[in-house]
Amino acid sequence: MRYDESSPPLPESSTSVSPDRPWYARRSTLVVAAAAIAPAALAGWVLTEVLSGGAGDDSRPPRIVMPLAASAAVPSAPSASAAPTPAPGASAAPAGTPAPAAAKGLAGRTVVIDPGHNTGNFKHTTEINRQVDIGTNRKECDTTGTTTNSGYMEAEFSMDVSRRLRTALEAKGLKVLLTHEAGKERPFGPCIDERARIGNEAAADAVVSVHADGVSAGSRGFHVILPAKVKGGGADTAKIIEPSRQLGERIAGNFARTTGSAPANYLGSGTGLVVRDDLGGLNLSTRPKVFIECGNMRDAKDAAQLSSPEWRQKAAQGIADGIVGFLGG
Ligand code: ZN
Repeated sequence: MRYDESSPPLPESSTSVSPDRPWYARRSTLVVAAAAIAPAALAGWVLTEVLSGGAGDDSRPPRIVMPLAASAAVPSAPSASAAPTPAPGASAAPAGTPAPAAAKGLAGRTVVIDPGHNTGNFKHTTEINRQVDIGTNRKECDTTGTTTNSGYMEAEFSMDVSRRLRTALEAKGLKVLLTHEAGKERPFGPCIDERARIGNEAAADAVVSVHADGVSAGSRGFHVILPAKVKGGGADTAKIIEPSRQLGERIAGNFARTTGSAPANYLGSGTGLVVRDDLGGLNLSTRPKVFIECGNMRDAKDAAQLSSPEWRQKAAQGIADGIVGFLGG
């Protein structure tokens, strides 16, 4: 579900990300290189969209290195198609495997992962309905999140992907913090303002909040939510707009590659990127931060993927590759 929100996102016209210059179009000059190194299982939409959407942008230097090319250039980051499918429950690095020395650029860097919602929120409705200050507004402390039609909770999904993501990032030598791990220590929440504060106080170099959406069947695909420029109370996102966009673009490209999922077909104009100004977790962040909605739990096909441990490993790897690329690893 859309995290801490009961209200729908802004109208499509205002939430779409630079529809005239979608992120993939800015990389049109890298199409040949990307195609040459693209694994067989590469999500077809990326190249299709680049090829069809890049016209007219050739004069623009790519602002950001294409995630596909960047990721493929990292020898230690196996692609989903090349790596053997992990067994259910497998983590990115086998237990006992020492973490390799941090790649150049990653040493000393910190990533905060925010597992959306909490499996205990359903039992603590009074606590999570408490209003908190998000700078520009007041909102509920936290929400329950959605579930698949068979009852798999978004909070379970987000925690599982977050732990896999932590394993993948630690294997790269990064310092990783989770905002919570549910259980006895966190029977509900944290509240959205605290989730943001954890990233801020850790001076995180990147923060990612992991979610899955809960919209009507037939709506499919993933999207990454970027912070809008907001200022009010304790919220001032001016300094994180650009780095957050870069982080989000990296994650979107790599997530598409590792999972084979397409960008959401119900918002974002097919870019897989959406800007929102109503999320406390983004408004209150002073560090580069995005949310990812990995799929739609209310769509049977998406739900089948979200419920698969193998797919969740691919999802975590894609997010990890995006973060590592953003950090220059
Ligand atoms: Zn959510």
